[in-house]
Amino acid sequence: MASDLIKRNVARLLAELPDGVEVVAAAKARTPEEVLQAVQAGIKIVGENYVKEAKQAYELLGRKARWHFIGTLQKHNVRRNVLEIFDMIESVDSLEIAREIDRKCAQMGKIMPILIEVNSGREPQKSGVLPEDVEQLVGETSGLRNIKVTGLMTMGPRFGNPEDSRPYFVETRRIFDRIKGLKLPNVEMRYLSMGMTNSYEVALEEGANIIRIGTKIFGARD
Ligand SMILES: *Cc1c(COP(=O)(O)O)cnc(C)c1O
Repeated sequence: MASDLIKRNVARLLAELPDGVEVVAAAKARTPEEVLQAVQAGIKIVGENYVKEAKQAYELLGRKARWHFIGTLQKHNVRRNVLEIFDMIESVDSLEIAREIDRKCAQMGKIMPILIEVNSGREPQKSGVLPEDVEQLVGETSGLRNIKVTGLMTMGPRFGNPEDSRPYFVETRRIFDRIKGLKLPNVEMRYLSMGMTNSYEVALEEGANIIRIGTKIFGARD
């Protein structure tokens, strides 16, 4: 996509957002140059689904942006050179992965902020923990010294009509508030990452303070 279009898209998006909301530019299938253009237009956080793409974009951008991992993390991908890139992992959905991140981060002397991903639509093929299992996973990961739980992330089912996403955002918000109220040690319920191009307006109404936007910034993926 032409760089002036990315620039205009970012400017328009940032202008309409309330204070206190962070945009993660969902960069999957985009070139490092396109990602750089978004950052030069004012995007502060890049979201990566794939380790390989993250490394390529990171090579060009380095610390010009902050980096969130938003994809499915395989255990074999939890390596030091991957963890070095990321400032947050939004998609932790098992104790096994959390333990692996913790173990590697301990070797690096790093404390990794994470979000727990909620499978709010209860879709068998989707990643994320089921709503009723979130509290337990937060409790278990809170005991890991080199990880800090800082909130929740959800995708929700894909709909044509954004209103259909609302109940899934409402439920995730409810879980977020309940866990926040528990005041668990080493848990800081601060971030609620919900909403994509199609659904971010509804997500903001339901309390999201991180939105993950791809299409509205970069155009349609091929
Ligand atoms: C692709 C992706 C997004 C953004 O999707 P768009 O509909 O293009 O805005 C957000 N979150 C995750 C986890 C994604 O993989």
